[in-house]
Parts: sequence; structure tokens; C-alpha cells
Amino acid sequence: MELWYTEYQTKNLGLTARIKATLYTGQSEFQEVAVVDSYQFGRMLVLDGVFQTSIFDEFIYHEMIAHVPLFAHPNPQTVLVIGGGDGGTIREVVKHQSVEVAEMVEIDGLVVDVSKKYLPEISVALNENHPKLRLKIGDGIKHMQEVENKYDVIIVDCSDPIGPGEGLFSHAFYQDVYKALKPDGLFVQQTESPFYHQELIKRLKQDIASLFPVTRLYLANIPQYPSGLHCFTIGSKQYDPVTADIARIPENFGTRYHNREIQKSCFALPNFVQELVK
Ligand code: SAM
Repeated sequence: MELWYTEYQTKNLGLTARIKATLYTGQSEFQEVAVVDSYQFGRMLVLDGVFQTSIFDEFIYHEMIAHVPLFAHPNPQTVLVIGGGDGGTIREVVKHQSVEVAEMVEIDGLVVDVSKKYLPEISVALNENHPKLRLKIGDGIKHMQEVENKYDVIIVDCSDPIGPGEGLFSHAFYQDVYKALKPDGLFVQQTESPFYHQELIKRLKQDIASLFPVTRLYLANIPQYPSGLHCFTIGSKQYDPVTADIARIPENFGTRYHNREIQKSCFALPNFVQELVK
């Protein structure tokens, strides 16, 4: 018998993957956690029925959410990842020589444990003995309220704006992010599909621009996410990522998607996306 798994991406559309097996299902205090093995995407982490990451295309998302902001900052030393329980973003962050401390605050310890067991390629840096990693299981919203003037770069690698991640898409949260950053700090957040989440993107852009002098949106093609085109929003206190010195990016950084040209070209927006954020 053939097994198929559908993620309902909008009220009217789903992405259906033929699967070989369900490797894990469990329920945490926050969400249903599953890992399925699919033919097209390989192993996939699924939270509350929503695809989070897959062996097939995870490199695009993780490289783009980590390297674009980190290369937009001239010397990122202290970095925070909020969410990101699968470990892919931290794996990319610790590649940067300048990074001395990579903190991660993930609300759900079960996501971390399951990723370590079923997605070792992605979670490879989630190792207690990693010299740069400081992993905390806790609420990123609460953590943000408690810190001040601490981080060079904050990466909000969150799930959709429902459930435990909802408050990560609010003006109050961005105020705390601003406070937690150093005077020249910057942050990035995954901000969904420019086709299907236009109202959300507009609102976030306005909220972030009301606090940060520099706000930029950038794009990447990510097959598993709704519409295949995914956007990220940066709020920066000082540096404009569009004018970052791309010569600083090593030629052989070991990435499969990100490179010097992508660092620049990802900020080129189609007209309909420019309309959303003007
Ligand atoms: N790449 C993914 C995507 O765009 O769908 C996101 C991956 S990562 C698994 C998202 C993580 O954010 C989840 O593990 C979830 O538990 C975590 N998360 C949600 N709300 C959070 C919060 N308030 N504080 C910290 N982590 C949170």
C-alpha cells in the first residue's frame, strides 16, 4: 500500500509527499513532533502537521538564514538563534571564525532530541561538548525580555505564526530584540511566502521598520515550503546588508547554495514583492 503525507499549506492547497515510513511520532507539551521518510525529500521533520525541514533541501534555508545576516555584520562574535531545534542554523553559524559564542534558545526539548536521533546530518553541531554552543531549552520570547545589549546577530528560526511561535511575530517581541542587540547589531527572521502570506509580510515589515533604521527583505527558492519562494526579513541598527563587503566571504566556505553572488542578488526583489514592503 502506498503512503502519502499531506501538509495543508493554505485552506485550499497542500503539499503531498509519498512516504516510505513514519520513523517517529510523539507529543510534547507544545506540539506534535513527527519524522517521516519520504521519496522526494528524504527524512522530514514535521511539527503539528507542518513540514519544517528535510534532508533534500535543508541546506538552502539554513545557509540563507545564517550566512546572509552573518556576512552583513563585519564581526559577529556573539550570536543567538531562537527556535531552530533541528540544529541546521547553529551548524551554519559555528562555521564563522569570528563567532565565539552561539547561543540557541529552543522551546521544545523534544524537537532537539528527535533531531539528534533521526536527523544527524542537520543536528551535527547540537553537541554538549561543542566549544561555541550554549543550548537552552526555554521560551525565546521570555529570553528576549531578560537580555540587553548582548548580541551582534539574532536569528529567529521559528515555525509558523501559530502555536508557541505566534509571539515571535509581534511588535513587542521586536522591541525586545532591539534591546537585546548591541548598538550595531542586526537580526533576521524567516517570514514565510511572498505569495501566500502577504498581509503578514507587510505587517512585519512595518513593525520592524518602526524600530530599526535599516529593514531589508531577501528571497530564496526552497522547494518544500509553501509556494517554493521563501522570504526573510532583516532589521539592522547600523549596517545595510545590501552594501556588505562580499569579498569577505571565503570562496570555499563549504556551502551548497550561498555564495558571494547570492549574498548580493538575494536582495533583488520582484515588483510585486517590492510593493509589499514599500
Ligand atoms: N525551518 C523551519 C521553518 O521555517 O518551518 C523552522 C524550523 S525550527 C524546527 C522551528 C522551531 O521553533 C521549532 O522547533 C519550535 O519548537 C521553535 N519555537 C517555536 N516557538 C518558540 C519560542 N517561543 N521560543 C523558542 N523556540 C520556539
